[in-house]
Amino acid sequence: MITEIFKVDENSILELEKASKLLNDGELVAIPTETVYGLGANALNKNACLNIFKAKGRPSDNPLIVHIAKPEDAEKIAYTNELYYKLAKRFMPGPLTVIMPKRDIIPYEVTAGLETVAVRCPEHKVAHKLIEIAKIPIAAPSANTSGKPSPTTAQHVYDDMNGKIPMILDGGECKFGVESTVISITNDSIMLLRPGSITVEALKEICPNVKIASAVKEELKQGETALSPGMKYKHYAPKANLYLVNDKNINFIELAKEKQKTENCAIMCYDEEISLLENKNLLPVGKKDDVKEQTKRLFILLRRADDLCVDTVYAHLPYDEGESLAIYNRMIRACAHRVLGG
Ligand code: AMP
Ligand code: MG
Repeated sequence: MITEIFKVDENSILELEKASKLLNDGELVAIPTETVYGLGANALNKNACLNIFKAKGRPSDNPLIVHIAKPEDAEKIAYTNELYYKLAKRFMPGPLTVIMPKRDIIPYEVTAGLETVAVRCPEHKVAHKLIEIAKIPIAAPSANTSGKPSPTTAQHVYDDMNGKIPMILDGGECKFGVESTVISITNDSIMLLRPGSITVEALKEICPNVKIASAVKEELKQGETALSPGMKYKHYAPKANLYLVNDKNINFIELAKEKQKTENCAIMCYDEEISLLENKNLLPVGKKDDVKEQTKRLFILLRRADDLCVDTVYAHLPYDEGESLAIYNRMIRACAHRVLGG
């Protein structure tokens, strides 16, 4: 199959109509969103959704997020509640995914057999316009090969999906660069399943009762089931062995300089640290205090680490609070919990 890339914005009606026709015909289309690129299919078409799993090599027990144009469209696919609308008023459209009981119209192929469905209303103008034109809910996980870092540019999607899908919509670099915040809700409580750019603190302003699922920060214990199946897989991993350095207990610069002498390694350092290190295989993550920029560069740098063909990568252990919790969660899984300095 030939994979075509089209540069688009929300006014590229011809291209969006072509994408809409492909989706309605049961084909897959890669779509830009504000978080990462999604691999879209008609969420009401079982076979189309099964093809997402094939193209990604995604384990069949890992459910898909369903994207809608307006918060009210959730009514057609899920049993909503009051809290959903409070959250929607504040955070939608935007990088928040809410899990609720599913309606029969959503096939079990989308939810990996679960009775719940994950609903998101993207803010990206191209994604929004496409869902409107297609007039169907669109199931879309991240458009990467399973296990690889999520794609934040059309080129990353092409690297993974070339020959597997007919169309990639290129809407430029993603604004946030990390996948959506995933929560499940009751009428008066929130469980955070995957941290993203919408923080625990922001959620607490709408509903004070927010719990964090243990898999967000810790490794699942043997026999423990993940509330969000995606959390049990080693994800976002570069080919090299990634080590996180707890710089409260270990001098990061001293360790990095030593490793630069003795190993074929890359160093993910803060921008302020560039001049302190040998200028070889450095992957600057952004300024120490600029968590937004660090989030945006995260997956780009993990992919670049692969291009460098190094054996090891050393990075700071991120904070596990606020906006940085999303980085912590992705990095701790990318390094398979290899942390130096406790
Ligand atoms: P991705 O779309 O690749 O970013 O992954 C979607 C994430 O949402 C995965 O971690 C899934 O496990 C999670 N997810 C989707 N639907 C559900 C659901 N019904 N219950 C729990 N987690 C879900
Ligand atoms: Mg993913």
